[in-house]
Amino acid sequence: MLVIKNARLIVGGRVCDDTTKALVIEDGYIRAITDTPPADAEVIDAEGLYCSAGFVELHTHGINGYDFMDADAAGAGKALVDYARFGVTGVYPTLMTASAEDLAAALDSLRPLAETPSDGAQFLGAHMEGPYFNAAQAGAQPPEVLRLPDAEEVTRFLNAYPFIRRWDLAPELEGAAEVIETLVLRDVVTGVAHTDADSMTILQAAIQGCTVATHLYSGMSSVNRKDGFRHGGAVEGCMLADDITAEAIGDGIHLPPELLHLTWKVKGTNRMALVTDSNRGAAMPEGSAGRIGHYETGVPIVVADGVAWLPDRSAFAGSIATMDRTVRTAVYEAGIPLGDAVRMATATPAAAMGLTDRGDLQEGLRADVVLFDDRITVHRTIVGGKTVYIR
Ligand SMILES: [Zn+2]
Repeated sequence: MLVIKNARLIVGGRVCDDTTKALVIEDGYIRAITDTPPADAEVIDAEGLYCSAGFVELHTHGINGYDFMDADAAGAGKALVDYARFGVTGVYPTLMTASAEDLAAALDSLRPLAETPSDGAQFLGAHMEGPYFNAAQAGAQPPEVLRLPDAEEVTRFLNAYPFIRRWDLAPELEGAAEVIETLVLRDVVTGVAHTDADSMTILQAAIQGCTVATHLYSGMSSVNRKDGFRHGGAVEGCMLADDITAEAIGDGIHLPPELLHLTWKVKGTNRMALVTDSNRGAAMPEGSAGRIGHYETGVPIVVADGVAWLPDRSAFAGSIATMDRTVRTAVYEAGIPLGDAVRMATATPAAAMGLTDRGDLQEGLRADVVLFDDRITVHRTIVGGKTVYIR
């Protein structure tokens, strides 16, 4: 049994500044939050640190030099250890648009993670970002391998890789309705992404069962005019659809603080999930070079000033955020209360993926726990009751 005492517990989006209650963990689960913890347990004295549920990473391509498109099982396992340093207890690795062969190779490299316990964050399933996207909103997705939604291809992949838990697509493309139907029937979470759709098309997709807006504002149409008449774009459709959870890249750069705050105002704490959308540059030192996607064939990037750039510094080339930073940005730059920011990194992403066994500090939930200070610097990460990182 394990007891965490002297912590400022964050429960249900509320910060308890009174540190007299202790968190009791047994057999990998939270047993109680109590004034009278058992005397015979191992004790962690949190010395006034915050204590919350572990962060759930919904959208991340890589960290510390590794990209999940590298298709190397050992590298993927090491990445899970790196995520835990930033308070992450569960990860959905993201694969980007690629040929069927390259996607299969990347998924093959994730299979061992699905079958063996991790030394760091838990592998929760694969997230497919592509390849059924609109070229007009492709962003960093390689245009030469974009294609129209193909339900047969989706079914083939889902049969071969049952750990695929989420798939994103542009709902306005021919064949999208059939793919959405396939995904919904197979209980795979469906996101709208890299889309030029108008608001009504997004609302229609939401009725069909799309429940996530992939990095709201990035790779999405917004208010526009056709023949003089103004129309809402994908962004507005995602804001209007009550059942859509909006991902917000929380680096303070892809979304400036005022848009983070606006998204929070419109979607609320239970429908806005903080994500990193990080590439391999996350947790790498300033000046590091690498590539988006595969380490040999991807687009080159350099890390500087908290973001990845094209080498000539002409444009951003993706996020290098970590989950602790997304919470820090939400609180200290976007003016969102700490309890809400933590919920958007824990309960909201867990709920968006249909997970009911985690996301908060409640009796009966998994003991995925993180201790952090006022600057949201992580001091300890506990996954399933086991400490996997100490600062
Ligand atoms: Zn992404």
